Amino acid sequence: MGFGPRFLEFSMATVDLVEVSKIYADGVRAVDRISLAIKDREFVVLVGPSGCGKTTTLRMVAGLEEISEGSLAIDGRIVNHLPPKDRDIAMVFQNYALYPHMTVYKNMAFGLQLRRRELGLSKAQIHQRVMEAANILGLGDYLHRRPKALSGGQRQRVAVGRAIVRNPKAFLFDEPLSNLDAKLRLETRAEIKKLHLRLNTTTLYVTHDQEEAMTLGDRIVVMKDGLIQQCAPPLQVYEQPANRFVASFVGTPPMNFLRGQRIDGGYFATAGAQLLLPPRLLAACSGSSERELMLGIRPEALSLKNEGRFAGTDNALQARISVVEPLGDKVDIHFDLHEHPHLICRADAHDYQTLPPRSAATFYVNMQRVHLFSADAQGRNLVT
Ligand code: ADP
Ligand code: MG
Repeated sequence: MGFGPRFLEFSMATVDLVEVSKIYADGVRAVDRISLAIKDREFVVLVGPSGCGKTTTLRMVAGLEEISEGSLAIDGRIVNHLPPKDRDIAMVFQNYALYPHMTVYKNMAFGLQLRRRELGLSKAQIHQRVMEAANILGLGDYLHRRPKALSGGQRQRVAVGRAIVRNPKAFLFDEPLSNLDAKLRLETRAEIKKLHLRLNTTTLYVTHDQEEAMTLGDRIVVMKDGLIQQCAPPLQVYEQPANRFVASFVGTPPMNFLRGQRIDGGYFATAGAQLLLPPRLLAACSGSSERELMLGIRPEALSLKNEGRFAGTDNALQARISVVEPLGDKVDIHFDLHEHPHLICRADAHDYQTLPPRSAATFYVNMQRVHLFSADAQGRNLVT
């Protein structure tokens, strides 16, 4: 890698969305007053279920979709009404959008060649940029092939190459890994991370895959129904989810939820179990003892061994195992607790001895790691 790129020089840029909304012609408010300040060189990931407004947001930043309300600034300059080509932003799509009749080289060079005079580039400069991008992306041996003679991963790299030769102020990615098989997806994900470490270009990346978001983002923005639910570094989203939606969306297998109440003695009572709440959580739900609460327990915070911090049964769930999924070093144990079906414990495989189906088992909760949410539709985290 050495000294970094020579011919590809990246201008630094911030991207600021202030109260940005998109209302489509049919009246659908697909994006609802989103504010987001992306720092120079930052890698921000928009993540959320299908239909939550990720692509719409990205297309508004790119200039492919009109902004209905709010303002968008790139590098401190409002660009709401600037056409895409004048925004200095490069977008990579899920379906690559390569020209099938052009070679890899031509696919990367074409956009620059078209606007060569306007951009003030010599033919030699374009060639240098394309060759450097091809080198960075490992495409050197494929420059004369056409897209149909490439694998999915290689095609996606050409699409990325076409974006980086433009020396854009920012990269936008819309689900760029979705068309790749599982193994290639992991490899390409790591390549995108390496590329960002090397080029340091401000990036806004869209995915519905929470694991992709967690591994790539400096910050991740969790969206639902056109609204931002939480915007924070990945570990903070995992450890301090703003609400029940974020808590259930981030992390696999998903968080378990138990509905119940706080009762005398500092316990959380739910059908089939009483768990002693640590002071941190007790403080969060002080006051009404009648109030319905939702306790959130990640599968990793459950164990078949009592780790010792709690005596007796204050952190025990007497349950019945339904399904066991071995994962190698870990094992996912699905169990039912009284009227709560489909809870999951992710245990260390060596702590688990094969039990007959439908057998009873005791699971221990690491109460230092549980979360407490309001039981209403909002599902606010009561601690953060
Ligand atoms: P995501 O990328 O998160 O899956 P989209 O941004 O594509 O979501 O879509 C957000 C919402 O806007 C969805 O309800 C979708 O049906 C709607 N939508 C997207 N494009 C259009 C359009 N051109 N006209 C009307 N509604 C649209
Ligand atoms: Mg989309």
